[in-house]
Amino acid sequence: MSGRARCGLSTDDLTFFFDAMHAPLAATARDVALSDAVDSHDPFALAKLFAEKGLLRACVPASEGGLAKGVDVRAVCLVRESLGWAGGLADTVFAMQGLGSYPIVLAGTDAQRSEYLPAVLDGSSLAAFAITEEEAGSDVASMATRARRDGDGWVLDGAKTFISNAGIAGHYVVFANADPSQGRRGITAFIVRPSDPGFVFAGEIPMMAEHPIGTIRFEGCRLPGDRLLGAVGDGFKIAMGTLDVFRSTVGAAALGMARRALDEALDRVTSRRQFGKALAEFQSTQAYLAEMATELDAARLLVYRAAWAKDGGAPRVSLEAAMGKMYATEAAQRIIDRALQLHGGTGVVRGNAVERLYREVRALRIYEGTTEIQRLVIATQLLAEHAKK
Ligand SMILES: Cc1cc2nc3c(=O)[nH]c(=O)nc-3n(C[C@H](O)[C@H](O)[C@H](O)COP(=O)(O)OP(=O)(O)OC[C@H]3O[C@@H](n4cnc5c(N)ncnc54)[C@H](O)[C@@H]3O)c2cc1C
Repeated sequence: MSGRARCGLSTDDLTFFFDAMHAPLAATARDVALSDAVDSHDPFALAKLFAEKGLLRACVPASEGGLAKGVDVRAVCLVRESLGWAGGLADTVFAMQGLGSYPIVLAGTDAQRSEYLPAVLDGSSLAAFAITEEEAGSDVASMATRARRDGDGWVLDGAKTFISNAGIAGHYVVFANADPSQGRRGITAFIVRPSDPGFVFAGEIPMMAEHPIGTIRFEGCRLPGDRLLGAVGDGFKIAMGTLDVFRSTVGAAALGMARRALDEALDRVTSRRQFGKALAEFQSTQAYLAEMATELDAARLLVYRAAWAKDGGAPRVSLEAAMGKMYATEAAQRIIDRALQLHGGTGVVRGNAVERLYREVRALRIYEGTTEIQRLVIATQLLAEHAKK
């Protein structure tokens, strides 16, 4: 763990949100986060590492005698918090195994679950979730990718962009409209393999932080009938059901990144001396630290409240998850910015942990629903409840 700050990750303070099974998982995730292996730049090596350490079981549910329905959201959050502390790529690889397989957990047949999930769980295959298009980002329902029946099978035409794991995934859960006259009720989910005729990997998109991502196209892409996921027209529900589970976990990744920034800041201000004193002795430094720690705690409470509510059986946690995701990602950006400020010039040197975090945290305010879209979700629910009173 050379070059790492002392790790402040702990679940001791939020015990009321957790069950007995969470403590050993959090300990394993923390060990992985502190290991040198987690610094790998190879997504396949990282997926294998997470499989070997048992972490993937948290996001690809398996139970004795088969694959269980549903994931424990708190478990996914705990792992993402630790991996976010360690590095953005590690978090992305872990999260995508969940995001790209959960629609199959949710809506797949037993045959589909047995065919696709074991390879995701053992880390030998990477998963992808493809909904975004060039002209359909926040407004996903306006997607232009079309699906038409062709005998027993289907043909897809269109393109998806900003797809994490594009070019390296073993399967993609793809959303296409099978009946545009029905609007969002025409959206249908499919499982696509890169070997399917008419599937084209159109290239990587270079990002400001390490993240495997790119564009895929479907040029008369032929799929056998058993690639339909759920019923025709269920795609929007499947996509939203998946995001409802994973949205708060994006907040958890942000918590890990923010905790890392606070740990780095604490190390720095207690070791760096100016004007004959440690930086930590200046009141303005202490004010920064106090604000960072308080915002981090507030964010943790919101994220784990959402995860705990979902695990407790709440049918939808859109409001809680939106609050957790929005607040944690925005707060993490502020906390990391302050940590960088406390590092002075060192903070903007390439390769410094806070410089890396500053780049890595940015995308979290955008993907799986931007901050502005989370605000819409929160306000819409608030106003609907007010109207009922
Ligand atoms: C790192 C990364 C990984 C991603 N991975 C995936 C993936 O694996 N699969 C996938 O399908 N997609 C993925 N995405 C895409 C991501 O989900 C979209 O970028 C996101 O939904 C926003 O869409 P957009 O980029 O088209 O922005 P736009 O929708 O064009 O939004 C631009 C701006 O307008 C604002 N805006 C839009 N509509 C409204 C409104 N109604 N009210 C107020 N403001 C509004 C937005 O908040 C934003 O600030 C990824 C993106 C990134 C950056």
